[in-house]
Amino acid sequence: MRNILVIEDSPLVLKILEHLFRQEAELQPLFCASLAEAQVMLESSAELFFAAIVDLHLPDAPHGESVDLVMHYGLPCIVLSGSYDEQRRDQLLLKGVVDYVLKESQHSYEYAFRLLHRLESNGQVKILVAEDSDATRQYIRHVLAPHRFQLLEARDGDETLRILEAQPDIDLLVVDHSMPGLSGFELVKLLRQKMKRHELIIIGLSADAKGSLSAKFIKHGADDFLRKPFCPEELNCRVISTLERRDLLRALKQAAQYDALTGLNNRRAFYEQGLAQLQRAHARDQPVSVAMIDLDHFKRINDQHGHASGDAALVAFAGLFAEALPEALLGRLGGEEFALLSRQDAPGLAQTLDRLRERCARLDYSAGAPPLSFSAGVCEASGNSLEHLLHEADQRLYRAKHQGRGLTIWQ
Ligand code: GH3
Ligand code: MG
Ligand code: MG
Ligand code: MG
Repeated sequence: MRNILVIEDSPLVLKILEHLFRQEAELQPLFCASLAEAQVMLESSAELFFAAIVDLHLPDAPHGESVDLVMHYGLPCIVLSGSYDEQRRDQLLLKGVVDYVLKESQHSYEYAFRLLHRLESNGQVKILVAEDSDATRQYIRHVLAPHRFQLLEARDGDETLRILEAQPDIDLLVVDHSMPGLSGFELVKLLRQKMKRHELIIIGLSADAKGSLSAKFIKHGADDFLRKPFCPEELNCRVISTLERRDLLRALKQAAQYDALTGLNNRRAFYEQGLAQLQRAHARDQPVSVAMIDLDHFKRINDQHGHASGDAALVAFAGLFAEALPEALLGRLGGEEFALLSRQDAPGLAQTLDRLRERCARLDYSAGAPPLSFSAGVCEASGNSLEHLLHEADQRLYRAKHQGRGLTIWQ
């Protein structure tokens, strides 16, 4: 739960904010209608707040004094205002507010809430600023710091490479083009050979007036580009939009690879990774086994206890499956059918599966539902055709079903 201080006197705006906060289980607002009230609140309990939403014009603070108050306590500050004034906006952003939101429509307020959520996730985001000019580096730090990012700095290309090597979890690189040693442009070319867009976002910077430079940066793999001098808002928008794009890309990749119900690899991902692992093991002459698993009489669970119980059984099984085989590649091939590829030999893997079956029988996945059981066929690798190996394991699974279910057959 995050406490958000709201300093606002307009009843209409308060009503909208209250409505939006009701839809946010993780955000708890505390409303103050004047600067004086906010002063008392912050004096006694500033450390309880995560961020503040602040009206720029209050009866007892007509010139944005509420912003100064909130910033004095080091709270991230989102400013609300009824009127648009470009000069005022730049002043506020340079002062270090998170952003400036116009009280225009439902969308503006929703934007303020998106900012609050971003502030939460930004704590996890590492940004490396590679720039030789001290003044520009400080300017960028000044603009990005209120967003709660983890900020790192490099002064030239070599230092940038060293930092990225030591900290591969850096999310975003802001890189100047003209630096001593490796240029920003050469850096992008080099980095894109080993880091994909979902692994590292790159925003290029240059004071060069030539339009072709931005195109060159982007063609070689930068995600975006900024021409110096840029205003704080421009930098903020580009950083946030590239991060949002990256998150979307990651979500798509996640959805394409994992089964939504159990979180295990889906059929396609299992086959892709399985084939690569099998070929690697074959080249090194290492043992590999695969297993095909099918839950027994699963249709009865659905028919007699409902589809939700069936789903709960699949989720619970997947949990135990992953626990029992932490080193193996696991997949849900479809329905109640699972597969795995393991470094164990066939008898060892069959034993692991028999122990898993005992745990499944004791699993309490849904009130009143029958114990969970499965049949399995195991086959040890003798070549590098995954298709052939899985087919053989499936034949054995078929025999296990015919021999009464609740069995593993491995020879
Ligand atoms: P057997 O022991 O021979 O394997 O019998 P079974 O009932 O397990 O096999 P059958 O193939 O007849 O039924 C599988 C059922 O699994 C049918 C299908 O509706 C159900 N199923 C497939 N996917 C899902 C799912 O995601 N959730 C739920 N709840 N049921 C699913
Ligand atoms: Mg430079
Ligand atoms: Mg079945
Ligand atoms: Mg089946």
